[in-house]
Amino acid sequence: MSSGKVECREVCGEVRDGLQMTPELMLDLARKAAELVVGRIESLPGEDAWDGEFQQELRARLMEDPPEDGRPAVEVIERAAREILPVAARLDHPRCFAFVPSSPTWPGVLADFMAAGYNINQCTWLTASGPSQLELVVIDWFRRWLSYPESAGGLLTSGGSAAAVDAFVAAREAAGHPERATVYMSDQSHSAQSRAAMIVGVRPECVRMIPSDEHFRLDMEALIRAVTEDRAAGFNPMAVCANAGEGSTGAIDPLEAMADYCEAEGVWLHVDAAYGGFAIITEKGKRLLRGIERADSIGLDAHKWFFQPYEVGGLLVKDASTLENAFAVRPDILQDTVWGANHPNFVDRGLQLSRSARALKIWMSIQTFGMAAFRRAVSKGMELASRAEEYIRASPILEILNPASLGNVCFRVNPMNTDLDEEALEEINRSILARVFWEDRALMSSTLLHKMFSLRLCIINHTTTWDDVRETLEAAERFGMEALAR
Ligand SMILES: *Cc1c(COP(=O)(O)O)cnc(C)c1O
Repeated sequence: MSSGKVECREVCGEVRDGLQMTPELMLDLARKAAELVVGRIESLPGEDAWDGEFQQELRARLMEDPPEDGRPAVEVIERAAREILPVAARLDHPRCFAFVPSSPTWPGVLADFMAAGYNINQCTWLTASGPSQLELVVIDWFRRWLSYPESAGGLLTSGGSAAAVDAFVAAREAAGHPERATVYMSDQSHSAQSRAAMIVGVRPECVRMIPSDEHFRLDMEALIRAVTEDRAAGFNPMAVCANAGEGSTGAIDPLEAMADYCEAEGVWLHVDAAYGGFAIITEKGKRLLRGIERADSIGLDAHKWFFQPYEVGGLLVKDASTLENAFAVRPDILQDTVWGANHPNFVDRGLQLSRSARALKIWMSIQTFGMAAFRRAVSKGMELASRAEEYIRASPILEILNPASLGNVCFRVNPMNTDLDEEALEEINRSILARVFWEDRALMSSTLLHKMFSLRLCIINHTTTWDDVRETLEAAERFGMEALAR
């Protein structure tokens, strides 16, 4: 102690100095962690797509006081890998078709590790100029894929929810922060959109849910009626939100018609492309998403159909200044960080100050595999969904409830020539969902399609094969036959 150095102590055989570790130990532990993660990825296809536990059991296992003294780090890592991390849905399992799953690539995972290890705070140019430039690069790639003009800009966010909040802040300020603001979206829209509208101050009863048509796309006539009536009643339409890949069905709203209308009415158009946005890198997706480039803002999630680890979404606005006008404040404590327009501070574009370097994972993944591989991976999801639709149409006991759209397909067991009523069909299909959950390796989820119970597959994992899809549909058929036989 007299030397002024922090006291070194022996902890369970590891020499540590305060909160530090020796380089040898750090490397050993990193290798151990990497082995566990790679081992998990390798064994994934043979595992169930879901694991989980009820709270009582987990509480008993994990609720404890933080230990006063440490223990060997390798034991801590092993415990995490044994008791905590596996007790979760394996959203990257090739047979995980539930919700909107994800399947990160390894360079993306390593990028998160490196960004944490280099301790990047991607908030201002002064604190992180290299990573800031990289985020500009990645946002510019997105901009070009979306056919947005050079005046567009944006930022990477935690996901589609944060992108919607940031977008609606920009929309609100562009509208002059009106009283009695209203926002419009289809009744199929993701809850993140209505929540975002409420967060920015739109009253819950002023979030207008517009009916959707038989293909779950927003009904234009109903939108026009709602806006017209609201204006006449003294409300101030602030934003319209379009779906480009609605979660349940993959439905894409009439983007061109909505853009025409919003342009004419001077209302901000935000596109929720959290799920479907990256389809734009394929020829087919480009066709499906035509008109998206006319929106005022677009949110899209790289942690869904762009194969990145959580969390990374993106928000692009057609006119970059709309974001900075809404978010830039100049606190004295950050006065040294103002370097001028060519040195943007990402803090001025959204709700976060401290930010991780999210662009690194996207950049490292693309540099490693190339865009052709990403294009093939996204195309494959759409192809498998179309193939699933064909299989369902050919099956004597399965019925298509909504055709393949992007990576989604909605269906149920409903054999021809039976007179089961809707209630009986729902009961049978709920039982199929439960049996796939408990007895099959796959995980799927259900939804309501205008109140009708539907099974659904969302097929966007780059490791999923046709066998994975076919055998899951076969399991649904088998469980369906058994339910019908009862
Ligand atoms: C996932 C999703 C969201 C929410 O995005 P997060 O990244 O989870 O915040 C919004 N809309 C759609 C269509 C989605 O699929």
